[in-house]
Amino acid sequence: MSDTPPSKVRKILLIDDDERQEHLLTLQLAKFRREQFALEYAPTYEAGLKKLLSGNYAVCLLDYHLGERNGLELLRESRISGCDTPILILTADDSDEVDIAAMEAGAVDYLVKAALNTRLLERAIRYALKLEVTLAQLRQLAQRDELTRLLNRREFQRILSEEWERSVRFKRPFALVMVDIDHFKKINDTHGHQVGDEVLRHVASLLAGQVRTVDRVARYGGEEFALVMIETDGKNAAEHIKRLGVLLADLPCMVEGKNLTVEVTLSAGVADSMGGASNAAELVESADKALYAAKKGGRNRIVMAADGTELFFKSG
Ligand code: GH3
Ligand code: MG
Ligand code: MG
Repeated sequence: MSDTPPSKVRKILLIDDDERQEHLLTLQLAKFRREQFALEYAPTYEAGLKKLLSGNYAVCLLDYHLGERNGLELLRESRISGCDTPILILTADDSDEVDIAAMEAGAVDYLVKAALNTRLLERAIRYALKLEVTLAQLRQLAQRDELTRLLNRREFQRILSEEWERSVRFKRPFALVMVDIDHFKKINDTHGHQVGDEVLRHVASLLAGQVRTVDRVARYGGEEFALVMIETDGKNAAEHIKRLGVLLADLPCMVEGKNLTVEVTLSAGVADSMGGASNAAELVESADKALYAAKKGGRNRIVMAADGTELFFKSG
């Protein structure tokens, strides 16, 4: 990323079954004018993929011919595993077809070895890095809520649909939790909108800090949050949210510079993907209904969509 301190040497991964390439590239990298990179080398598909998925590299230079397999397969496999390291395809043959296929597979450039010189390589890497920063900024804008940095509602809907498909296909459960801050309007009215914003950020960071990396947290609307907890049934999700509510009770929102502590409570509705909904929209609807029941029942509680059971944010 662009904000990496210049003192930290960024690493480039070369995956190529021709060992002479390592030597050649080391020489070229040493002649770069703007930034010095460290080169790491992997001679096989498997070793290369493993290194690439570690996420430790600023860019990857990937040979097209890799024994019996090819670089594009590796590229696709890495993308499926969620790797977004910029990849430049290096190849011995100048082929329009491979060039187009590489682009379609998500490569940022296609470099023909015979035509490659130090200047060209340095420039290609520089452009790849710049493109990555730009893409990350665009992703951030498109997927995140500005105030809380949680996923926005649109991105959440996308993830929810994906999880729903997965859950149906593999018959694995996930839980959907809708969480809403109680009497939030009163917080705004009493302390002002900025304090309200502070409270939203506080709740958001507690929610995000308490879930596993596989789970997803979004700001669903004004003061409403949504969580997808994978491989978790409704009962376990409710226990998790319960711990979160207890934590929030112990950690009220401290507003800096105002010497103010705002206590917040939450209401939540929990629905299980195996609980009878026939699509993602119905699942949202049942979690929403349970949330509404939690509000109606007196707030500061969790309601299970399955049977209307109430749980309270008390230890034990
Ligand atoms: P309930 O317990 O029934 O949920 O009551 P509530 O007051 O929390 O809910 P209500 O829907 O009546 O009010 C939500 C308020 O949230 C109204 C709206 O002005 C405020 N709000 C929505 N988005 C933001 C925001 O980004 N910042 C701040 N400060 N307030 C917001
Ligand atoms: Mg509310
Ligand atoms: Mg609300």
